[in-house]
Amino acid sequence: MVLADLGSRLRGALSSVESGSDDEINQMIKDICSALLEADVNIKLVVRLRDNIKNKIKSEITAHDNTMNKRKKLQKIIYDELCGLVDSHEEPPKPKKLSAQKKSASTQTVTKTINGKKVKVKQNSGPSNISSYVIMFVGLQGSGKTTSCTKLAVYYKKRGYKVGLVCADTFRAGAFDQLKQNAIKASIPYYGSYLEQDPVKIAHEGVEKFKDEKFDIIIVDTSGRHRQEQQLFDEMVQISEMVTPDQTIMVMDGSIGQAAESQAKAFKDSANFGSIILTKMDGHAKGGGAISAVAATKTPIIFMGTGEHINDFEPFKPSTFISKLLGIGDLQGLIEQVQSLNLQNDENHKKTLENIKEGKFTLRDFQNQLNNFMKMGPLTNIASMIPGMSNIMSQVGEEETSEKIKNMIFIMDSMTTEELESDGRLFVDQPSRIIRVAKGSGCPAVEIEMVLQQHRMMSTMAKSAAAANPDGVPGGAGG
Ligand code: GDP
Repeated sequence: MVLADLGSRLRGALSSVESGSDDEINQMIKDICSALLEADVNIKLVVRLRDNIKNKIKSEITAHDNTMNKRKKLQKIIYDELCGLVDSHEEPPKPKKLSAQKKSASTQTVTKTINGKKVKVKQNSGPSNISSYVIMFVGLQGSGKTTSCTKLAVYYKKRGYKVGLVCADTFRAGAFDQLKQNAIKASIPYYGSYLEQDPVKIAHEGVEKFKDEKFDIIIVDTSGRHRQEQQLFDEMVQISEMVTPDQTIMVMDGSIGQAAESQAKAFKDSANFGSIILTKMDGHAKGGGAISAVAATKTPIIFMGTGEHINDFEPFKPSTFISKLLGIGDLQGLIEQVQSLNLQNDENHKKTLENIKEGKFTLRDFQNQLNNFMKMGPLTNIASMIPGMSNIMSQVGEEETSEKIKNMIFIMDSMTTEELESDGRLFVDQPSRIIRVAKGSGCPAVEIEMVLQQHRMMSTMAKSAAAANPDGVPGGAGG
């Protein structure tokens, strides 16, 4: 079962609870568990999740709860448990720009041996030393390592970091060409060699060059080869010892199913990676295998690849991922996507961010976000951030979803300034306003109600985002 199906099965299970009877709840739990098993989530994890859900239902739902309350509590319990499933509870390390590191520090030079020859290496020997942040990528061939290296480089470049790419994959013919082409397309400086056969030497030279040139982040791509080949692991250890990465990232194909767990364990034993990038979470990814790998290695997923294009890449946050799966929208993800459009000087955007900080989200904010949203692509990646949109998207496809969003913007064009600047409550107090907007926009009243309902859900999220983060809108992973 692919991820999109898992989402609709989970949503279906939740919405099948109508009266909140014991039979309905038991059936819902059964449906959730079988959906997770079919998505390749490890059976032990599913059993644990089932027991947790049952225990929480026993302790949190009482005979006094009416149906509405029961459903709300159930949704919260399922949401929390699913978040727990993909949350490693470990914080991934975050790169710091050189300019943000203490000026007083100096880099230490140490001598290391490569192939019997002694070489001098600059090394970050203490936390106060200024040094480039080195990220080493590991993973099997074909997992999407080289593509993800560039995607990560672009992600940090957009956020003002000076990033360089090093290709230490001398095994796969064409690996350097691929990285070079990606890097040129994205205007990222790169280092590699057509002649040198020793990946450890290339990694060392590339990292030293970029360190000398004061790069903030240096990303090293290594060879993937075939599954669990000893030479690959030895080489990874050697490169790691040479470049002493601040972070090692394992790239994992999200569609590999149950094999993910043993693969992750094998890599963890030799490369001791600190975070995971899941790729191919578009298309046919089941995702469950990778989720089980996270649990087995207690390692956070930090990013997710959602397509072949360089911008098909999102920070991974358990709550965001589960919100999208359950179709309850993702305000934070939407804001982060919009932020990547560099709208710092856009007055409307500034006002929206100020409002969100205060826990407000007016209809105009909603309209602005939708307008920005239309400038971003592809729609598949972002539609799920709006409550209810993933359902629409899976039913009607990208083109019609785009039309629906345009229609929502159009509907809000028929609202008065007072209405747009409001939290929408005045439509509840004076339903005649709905009829007026329906007439003005030429859309049925039910569509106006839908826009208002989606806005209400987003605005509830704005309130909880402000409460959880009083200093402002949370930033992206690692950023
Ligand atoms: P490597 O051997 O691990 O370096 O893998 P590559 O970066 O060469 O990727 C292998 C294939 O997977 C290429 O065709 C990529 O375009 C494709 N790929 C990488 N990431 C994604 C992703 O997130 N989604 C999809 N659909 N394809 C991806």
